[in-house]
Amino acid sequence: MKSTIITIGDEILIGQILDTNSRYISQALNRIGIVVAERTSIGDNATQITETLDRALAATDVVIITGGLGPTKDDITKHTLAKYFHSELVYNEKVGEDVKSLLALRGIAFNELNRGQAMVPRCCTVLYNNHGTAPGMWFEQGNKVVVSLPGVPFEMEHLISDSVIPMLRERFDLKSIVHKTMITSGIAESILAERIADWEDNLPDMLHLAYLPAPNIVRLRLSAYEVDGQSVEKIIDGQFEALRKIIHEAFVGFENASVEEIVHQLLIERGESLSIAESCTGGNIAAKFTAMAGASAYLHAGVVSYSNESKRDILGVNMDDIVRYGAVSEQVALQMAEGAKRVGASHYAISTTGIAGPTGGSAEKPVGTVWIGIATPTRTFAVLKNCGTDRGQIIQRATAYAIKLLLNELQCE
Ligand code: ATP
Ligand code: MG
Repeated sequence: MKSTIITIGDEILIGQILDTNSRYISQALNRIGIVVAERTSIGDNATQITETLDRALAATDVVIITGGLGPTKDDITKHTLAKYFHSELVYNEKVGEDVKSLLALRGIAFNELNRGQAMVPRCCTVLYNNHGTAPGMWFEQGNKVVVSLPGVPFEMEHLISDSVIPMLRERFDLKSIVHKTMITSGIAESILAERIADWEDNLPDMLHLAYLPAPNIVRLRLSAYEVDGQSVEKIIDGQFEALRKIIHEAFVGFENASVEEIVHQLLIERGESLSIAESCTGGNIAAKFTAMAGASAYLHAGVVSYSNESKRDILGVNMDDIVRYGAVSEQVALQMAEGAKRVGASHYAISTTGIAGPTGGSAEKPVGTVWIGIATPTRTFAVLKNCGTDRGQIIQRATAYAIKLLLNELQCE
């Protein structure tokens, strides 16, 4: 079963609003096994609506349209659809009463424009809208279904989940769509692709692999469309188990969990604690953890020690070492991590010291050079990482890499 989503509105095309309706509808359709073959945004223009609908109905079985149902002249979807389905507009008592009571609640008088909202094409099934004045409409043509919904996101969302999804399930015999995502970290996309090439080549035909890269993370999604859900989920689990053996240390978790969410979960589960000493990441690592509710269970301290003196005074870094090796050095990263662990009285600590640029780089230590220190209950070590050339990117990468290093330690203990 294939579908098309058409969002209507000049405001989408000029970039005034983001088309979030398509995303919501895609997710809802995927959950019940309807493949979204195409998404299109068009203007409030009758010819465009008609032509797009022609194409959508030729290629797919279900078409979901949002937008352009309001009472004003610029909203033309309803008139265009009535014409398209050779149907006249008739006054719908229930919609009229609903609109009246909704407007009364808001202290607005019912006028001709509102009366127009209660006019619906005779041939459609009306989808009553409990959250706004424009009803949804369900049309059938042969074996195909066209649904028109208001553009206002919360009105559309209620109609999708309360009416459209149950009706589609009832109307069609639907199969399943299965998506499962494995999160990897620490291996660049191209290297990862090389390493898993044999595994990828031997995937069963029904499984499709997608690479979704983000800073220091690559998500691998396996998808199967229109299949028997339960048996395919087992096949995917088996494939991921094999993949995990190939990429071992790069495995982070499943689905949409971020690396910091996994660390957060692990620390809470184990009752262990963390402190952080940051120079070049300026508190970004601590911010990642404090953004998650419940961080107080394990996060003891986060120090932003930007100057040499603060590294010495707060964290106990040896000034002679700073002078001899430089603030961006293995020795300083190690001492910062140990200092953070001591000051915070925690099981683990992370430290960062690097050159975020754009100035301050040298041939020996170019912009992007970052030393990351990790202190665990049993050892302290530091890793040198080049995190790129752009200041924002360097901070994000150093943050992601540091949290991943900590995760590695947590997972191997
Ligand atoms: P109304 O009866 O409220 O006028 P409508 O069906 O006419 O509903 P539109 O006029 O097309 O809807 O859009 C109303 C508002 O809903 C827009 O101003 C915009 O903020 C939001 N909206 C419309 N389409 C989308 C979309 N595809 N994604 C996100 N928001 C949207
Ligand atoms: Mg409108």
